[in-house]
Amino acid sequence: IVEAQKIRKVYGSLEVLHDVDLSVREGEILGLIGPSGSGKSTLLRILDLIEPPSGGELSIFGIDTVGERGRWLDLRRRMGMLFQRPIVFNASVYDNIAMGLRYRGAPRDEIDRRVKEALEAVGLSRYIRSRATDLSGGEQQRVALSRVLVTDPEILFLDEPTANLDPGSTATIEAIVTRLNRERGITVLISTHDLAQGQRLAHRVAVMIEGTVAQAGSPREIFHEPKDQKIARFVGVQN
Ligand code: ATP
Ligand code: MG
Repeated sequence: IVEAQKIRKVYGSLEVLHDVDLSVREGEILGLIGPSGSGKSTLLRILDLIEPPSGGELSIFGIDTVGERGRWLDLRRRMGMLFQRPIVFNASVYDNIAMGLRYRGAPRDEIDRRVKEALEAVGLSRYIRSRATDLSGGEQQRVALSRVLVTDPEILFLDEPTANLDPGSTATIEAIVTRLNRERGITVLISTHDLAQGQRLAHRVAVMIEGTVAQAGSPREIFHEPKDQKIARFVGVQN
């Protein structure tokens, strides 16, 4: 569903990503792990079409994105993104979730129904009328996730979505992600520097080291048969 080949990203004179090859298969949860600064967020911003790569090839949903900048908006509508810091607006939880649908011009009763469903999916129905910015960090992240879900994405890009959360909220987000993948078949790419989380959630794991994907494989392969010293050190030290 995502095929990235030889992706490069340069900021000024700094090459942050080099020759990144990564494929995400339809229906899987792929964990992207790697030390801080290895380029996970940069790669995600490229894969979810926030920034263009400096070089390489990227196809999403079978469409070549490099030659087709005009189709980015359409492609982006089929994706959902969640970031490390929850993004919620100073408005009711309802309005926070409804905005994507309003933007798409959905009818009011449909918006109503879908917002309620999405809130139920993250277990926050009781906060529908609360001001989103009054909620705890973990709840805000669930509202943000709910806003993503309401638009029915085919693929979810999660950039360290639980890095700022307590264990309880983390477990809730993990359970929701697992359920969405199982029940709705949503493909998930999740970056994390929490190795245990990678092991809990991911069907496959890709390890980024110094701006490139150094190894991709089953959690077993990555954690038990690391291909080189740097990977071994990364998966070993924190384990
Ligand atoms: P973390 O685990 O801390 O989130 P990361 O793996 O997500 O790290 P990135 O945020 O992708 O790492 O950063 C990779 C490198 O690219 C870092 O050295 C960072 O300073 C650099 N970088 C990222 N974005 C920019 C930018 N817009 N301009 C210049 N350098 C950048
Ligand atoms: Mg990051």
